[in-house]
Amino acid sequence: MDFALSEEHRMVQNMVREFAQKEVAPIIKEYDRKQEMAAFILPRMAELGILGICFPVRYGGQGMDYIALGLVCEELEAVDSTLRVVMSVHVGLNSMGLLQWATDEQKQRFLVPQARGEKIACFGLTESGAGSDVAGIISTARGEGGAYLLNGEKMWISLATKAHHALVVARTNPEAPDPHDGLSAFLVELNSPGVTAGDIHGKLGVRAGSTGWLAFQDVRVPVENRIGEEGEGFKIAMSCLDNGRYTVAAGATGLIRASLDASVHYAHERKAFGREIGKFQLVQQKIARMVQSYEMGRLLYLRAGWMKNMGLRNTRETSLAKWFATDASFDAASDAIQVHGAYGYSDEYDVERYLRNSKGAVIYEGTSDIHQLMQAGYALGYRTDTSLRCELPKYDREFWQED
Ligand SMILES: Cc1cc2nc3c(=O)[nH]c(=O)nc-3n(C[C@H](O)[C@H](O)[C@H](O)COP(=O)(O)OP(=O)(O)OC[C@H]3O[C@@H](n4cnc5c(N)ncnc54)[C@H](O)[C@@H]3O)c2cc1C
Repeated sequence: MDFALSEEHRMVQNMVREFAQKEVAPIIKEYDRKQEMAAFILPRMAELGILGICFPVRYGGQGMDYIALGLVCEELEAVDSTLRVVMSVHVGLNSMGLLQWATDEQKQRFLVPQARGEKIACFGLTESGAGSDVAGIISTARGEGGAYLLNGEKMWISLATKAHHALVVARTNPEAPDPHDGLSAFLVELNSPGVTAGDIHGKLGVRAGSTGWLAFQDVRVPVENRIGEEGEGFKIAMSCLDNGRYTVAAGATGLIRASLDASVHYAHERKAFGREIGKFQLVQQKIARMVQSYEMGRLLYLRAGWMKNMGLRNTRETSLAKWFATDASFDAASDAIQVHGAYGYSDEYDVERYLRNSKGAVIYEGTSDIHQLMQAGYALGYRTDTSLRCELPKYDREFWQED
């Protein structure tokens, strides 16, 4: 077993750390207060190759592996969750779904510009009446002369107003005996007539990011834009979540690290009862828990990344990594506020933003309740994973790096 990162991994880690710490950290509070995404973020991430980090060069990517993707997410969320959310939706939920399920022609049309960052991608699964219960989706896509007519609304869609492409799941067969089998997936070009989008304001966290809604009224989606077969929409959505959850797990680990670093710094600086507060055992206990959570979060996400590299099914391991790291990041941010006392309660310090941001990840991409059900289901033998028609391709360095 090799725990060492490669030279390449360390290079990408340093590059992303430098971008996040130098270019984003100084401005993030201002944008969080304004509840607006800074305009330079997406073009700069594209320019640095971050948006295509783990895709083969022939598909517009940087040719790196899935571990590199995890490391990128950890570094980004150590500064702000909104940066990692971009990776979760653009890379994890959408582009990796295309890598797994799209035809070569679709990869050329959609994945290449996405991996290059020329087109921004989002993921439209949730509806106002269907979140955890995906089979409750009521958006419809009705086949009509070489195309589908898409109607419906998607809620809580990250990057809804920034994206050019959305991977949308809609109902193609309302008569399917099992409603899961009546869903299909489509790559919808958001400049198509009949598409409207808007932002959601007043969120608890990820305020420097973009979360919104998408509405489709008689949107004509060509048959060539259907991803996978008719009826495969649920399976495709779930495998996209295997990839999105991986990025969330890695990012939440970064947020734990940020809470730990801020707490250690403050514990040395702040004095009470004649000594620095780091000397008090109850402060130490909080810091020790953050160390423990960070190390556990990191091992869990790196194992999931390794499994992806090896082409092994990792739904169970990724769910565990996501559940653990997101709950632990919420606890770490809360403890970090406690360590900071009243100052932690103000936006003079970053830790209050960490807490607000951490809560979202406990909810999206499967709430912590859903992940507990999944883990119990696997342990009790109620749940097993069967092989898919298209699996996420294992990392093959030669194939990935060839032009
Ligand atoms: C900031 C943010 C960004 C998001 N981005 C996206 C995006 O880009 N694309 C997208 O498609 N969606 C996105 N979502 C939506 C997100 O995935 C859903 O909110 C999530 O799946 C939960 O669905 P829900 O909100 O409808 O809650 P519900 O499913 O209504 O759940 C409500 C409560 O009931 C619990 N519950 C539900 N079913 C069960 C059960 N069987 N057993 C036990 N408890 C249960 C839940 O755990 C939760 O506590 C985003 C959400 C947020 C907050």
